[in-house]
Amino acid sequence: MELQLSELKVQPFLLINQKGLIKFYSPGFSQIFFPPKSGESIEKYIHPEDLKEFQAWFRNFNSKESPGTVVKSLRFANETGRILSAMIRPEKTSRDGIIFWCWENRGLKETGDFWEAALTPAMEAVFSSILDGAFLVNIEGKLIATNQALSQMLGYHKLELLGLPAGKLFSDDPAEIQMATRRFGLIMKYDRVQEVNLTLKAKSGEAVEISLNGAVIRGEGNQLVGILAIARDLRESKLMRQLKNKTEGLEKAMTDLKQADKIKDDFLSLVGHELRTPLSNILGYAEFLADGNLEEKEKEEFTGIIYQEARRLARLVNEILDMSRLESGRLVYHYVYQPLDPVLEEAVSSVKADADQKRMLIHLAKGFGKEIWFDRDRIKQVAVNLFSNAVKYSEPEHEVWIESKELDQGALISVKDQGIGIAAENLEKVFEKFHRVENLEHHSQGAGLGLPIAKRIIEEGHNGRVWLESEGLGKGSVFYVWISGGMKNGR
Ligand code: ADP
Repeated sequence: MELQLSELKVQPFLLINQKGLIKFYSPGFSQIFFPPKSGESIEKYIHPEDLKEFQAWFRNFNSKESPGTVVKSLRFANETGRILSAMIRPEKTSRDGIIFWCWENRGLKETGDFWEAALTPAMEAVFSSILDGAFLVNIEGKLIATNQALSQMLGYHKLELLGLPAGKLFSDDPAEIQMATRRFGLIMKYDRVQEVNLTLKAKSGEAVEISLNGAVIRGEGNQLVGILAIARDLRESKLMRQLKNKTEGLEKAMTDLKQADKIKDDFLSLVGHELRTPLSNILGYAEFLADGNLEEKEKEEFTGIIYQEARRLARLVNEILDMSRLESGRLVYHYVYQPLDPVLEEAVSSVKADADQKRMLIHLAKGFGKEIWFDRDRIKQVAVNLFSNAVKYSEPEHEVWIESKELDQGALISVKDQGIGIAAENLEKVFEKFHRVENLEHHSQGAGLGLPIAKRIIEEGHNGRVWLESEGLGKGSVFYVWISGGMKNGR
């Protein structure tokens, strides 16, 4: 190896021959350590306690063709008795000489300046600019270089980290330590490391989940020098994950809101239509009546129409009010211990006129004689809604079968019709608000609020269930309502 003069000045080194005689020393060496005498054996300057070990190491070094990069720590002692800890890295030159690159080994900390000094300023800049925690571990398993990110991640000062056995960074969990040790063994063996998740221990004792990547650093002659480890803080990615979840949640809420907004728009246009139609009918026929000049028969007919349309309006307004009360929790139930069947009879009577008009027969099989707790008006409302739907969504002259019976100590009401039926994909949807919007063209009456109101009254107000069966379009439907018969609060 040819030395450049410029290098000779500042780098502390000794040039010795194979016998260990000092041939040259750099000004840097004399500044940091002491000025030795040229021609003398280096052994003269080595601490007597370290001498034997040094001799064996030096013999071994000399005997190898290309010993590669090895680092030795030893203590120099000069003529005045001053003891100086040093790290030396020997390097064979082309002229049978050996250069001992030397670094002061500061104090007991064994800070391993070798690496610090070995990193060129450019490399050092790269190392410190790595955003993940980075550290170099020497073959003794000690940290010999770290970056700012690692200090921040673990809460150590850089000087506390340097010289620290790498194992101390890992958690106290023996399994983790074993895994880390095995991992470092594998890194050394195969020269590479696949990403692995580990837990490090911060100075505060806090567990820091990381994913570890590593690379083996080899010096000259392929000599193993140490491991470069990159530790990515997974807590950050956890934060990112949480953030992502939140964002997804918000996006979903946004979609739901848009959906709700569309439902509201559809509702307003439907309700607008539903309100306008009966209103304009009422107004129109009222004008005819006011004009006079009508025959008795016409008067009767127009009054009938006005009455029907007003009823339709009242029903719609009541449904909207009920839904709003249910949704805001303002609907109050009045539970009474009473028989159920009479309520069903009343509900049948209230749809009888519509059924008669379509020449439909309604059969009621009363099979629940017991008394139970329920809100009479609300259960009647549910029953009327189901019975009138059965009539409304059936062709003339079809029949409807209503039955009550005991099930699981509660009452089961079933309403079977021969009507238009419900497609499988809509079996659940008809209980959603305004669902009828989609099949508006078939039947123009109603806002699609009856079933959602019934479902809430039964489920929230009566600890019950509502469901329906239909074999498909055109095949009729069976609606079921089951109520527990106890009071809502379990009394
Ligand atoms: P609407 O006021 O529109 O009748 P409901 O909430 O009572 O509102 O019913 C919602 C939708 O469910 C109806 O528009 C209709 O499409 C369907 N539906 C309800 N009952 C029946 C039935 N017996 N047969 C067929 N379809 C029905």
